[in-house]
Parts: sequence; structure tokens; C-alpha cells
Amino acid sequence: MAKKLTELTWEEFQGFDVYEKGACLRLERPHVFHTLVAQQFDRRFLDELCELTTTIRTIAKDKEGMLFLKGLLAHKRAMLYFSQPSSRTFLSFSAACQILGIDTEEVRDTAVSSEFKGETQEDSVRTFSSYFDLIIMRSKVAGLAERMAWVLSNSDRPVPIINGGSGRDQHPTQSLLDIYTLQRSFEDRGGIDGKQIVFVGDLLRGRTVRSLATLLMQYRDVDQVFVAPRQLQLGEDIQKLLSKGGVNFSLTDDFDSAVLEADAVYMTRVQDEWDDETGDSRKIDTSRYHFTAAHLDMLKPGAIVMHPFPRRKEIAVEVDNDPRAMYWRQMRNGMWTRSALMAVTFGVDREIASQL
Ligand code: ASP
Repeated sequence: MAKKLTELTWEEFQGFDVYEKGACLRLERPHVFHTLVAQQFDRRFLDELCELTTTIRTIAKDKEGMLFLKGLLAHKRAMLYFSQPSSRTFLSFSAACQILGIDTEEVRDTAVSSEFKGETQEDSVRTFSSYFDLIIMRSKVAGLAERMAWVLSNSDRPVPIINGGSGRDQHPTQSLLDIYTLQRSFEDRGGIDGKQIVFVGDLLRGRTVRSLATLLMQYRDVDQVFVAPRQLQLGEDIQKLLSKGGVNFSLTDDFDSAVLEADAVYMTRVQDEWDDETGDSRKIDTSRYHFTAAHLDMLKPGAIVMHPFPRRKEIAVEVDNDPRAMYWRQMRNGMWTRSALMAVTFGVDREIASQL
């Protein structure tokens, strides 16, 4: 049976599978406290978050609305602790904090913090919790955000942790903004239910794919197609989760056929920063998995192209101005979705909803 983090030892929590962890984290509802894994979110939460995100976007359209939003959390401070490179996640969280009036501080380079002097990450995070009300963190260590959340929940300063990307494993807030982007793109066509989502690229090590693929299990009759060279195909752990959840999915290396059928094509780059552990992926020819201007003619009129970015050559720049190229809007949606998540985390979501 699920228990709160305060009722579990670290070994017990760590030993749970990702859904059991999600069930423990959901005990904090109605307000999300820690955001650690995509699997902690259920359909109801996703629908509510999408609605709140749209409400914030709408309120933010004029100065009066912006000032209202800015006053909501002007008494809160957030620490952005990003020890792994980031552009969009960092900047969109920072902008989202500004929207809600949250003051921010950052550590992006541990060479300038006490970690350089040998301080443990655990001590660093406890230190941040002494000064801040929220810690948003990114790390190349899978599971580190979970460990920190457990540590803080069991301390006298139990401030929330938001996982801004952990190792090859999880990127829960990216999957929330991806869901919002899909929902928004298909809102006149019955939403995400019944759509075919095609994932392309490094599916083995791409944490955005891992998080989104499992979040899509919350939607009815979604087909998931995974297109990659054999060496970069989706990990068996996620395949097992999808099978267990009764998801209709297939693995293929036939990119062109998948594009023809897709409602959304989710492109990703080769994650070669992990090569030390898993071989030299730069030797794999991925050029036939690139989305070129010619693919626009094959894509259905209402379909969209997404990418979590950064991109390399996976999507030709000629595609950028097609209305179906959704990645720039997807990026901006990140700012709105992360605002909504923090509004829920601090319990001001109802106040926002009552504004319209
Ligand atoms: N920005 C995404 C991430 O942090 C995707 C990527 O880096 O390829 O996982």
C-alpha cells in the first residue's frame, strides 16, 4: 500500500517500481508536492493542468493579468540547481517563476559552489532548502531528484523538489509540456485520444521519450510507433510498461511509412553524451531518420512535428515555417506549463482559475 515519503525509509522508497513511487507521491494531493516521475500523474491531473495552463496563458495576455499573476507568489523563492547543461528547461522555469513573481537564484556550475570543496549533493540541497521554498534540479544522475525529495521530506525544511531532468531516465516536466502541446494541437479533433504518435531518433537514451511514452498511456486508443535504428530502439523496461498497460505500440526502422500515418512526429537527437557507457553512437548512420522538407508532403494536413530540442540535423530548417512545425510553440508552452505546475505546487491554482 502506498505511503507518504515520511513513512518510508529511503531503501523502501528506492525499491519501489516507478508506479509505486508515483502512488506515494500522489498522496500529497490535491496539491502536487514533489514532481519526480511522469508516472505520478493521472489523467485527471493532466486534464486539469492543461486547463490551468490555458487559463494562465489567457490571463497573461494583458498587463493587468500579468500583474495579477506576478502578485500570486511574490513571497516565494526558488533555487534552480542545474548541474547538467540546459537551455530551455532552465530558461522556461526561470521565466515561469517571473510570471508568478517567484524570486530565483541559481547554481549551474558546481565548480563555483561548495560541491567543488567536496560537499555532498545532499548537503548542498539541504543548504538550498534553508533559504528557498522550492528546488528545481537537473542532474545527470538518474534518481538523484528522488533521493533529494526523500531527504527533504524527512527534514525540518520539507520544501518541494521539481525534477528538471535526471540522467537518461526521467524528464517529467518536459512530458507535461509535450502533453499540453499535443492536447492544444488536437483540441478541435477530440484531443489526444485515438491519435498515432510516432517517436523517432535515440529512443534508448532519450529521457523525454521515456517520460512521454508512459504518460500517453493515460489516453484512450493512442497508437505509439517507435522509429529508430536497432541500436537506439526503445529500452525493454519501457516496452514492458507499455505491454503491461495494454498499449498498442510497434517498433520499426521504416521512417517514411510512419510519417504517412502519424498525427504527431516526435523527433529526437542522438544522445551521444552517454556514449562511454553504451558504445559509439556517432558511428550509426541516422541520416535516413531525418525529417526533411520532402516529408512535409507526406505528412497529413492536421499532423504536427515536435522536438524537445536541442536539434542537430534531425529536422531541416526548411521545415521551420510550416504551420505543422510545432517545436517553437512547444518550447513556449514549456513556460506556461511550468507556471501551471508551480501554481499547483504552491496551491494558488484555484485562485487563478477563479480569475476568468
Ligand atoms: N532537452 C532534452 C533533455 O534534456 C532533450 C535533449 O537534450 O535531447 O533531455
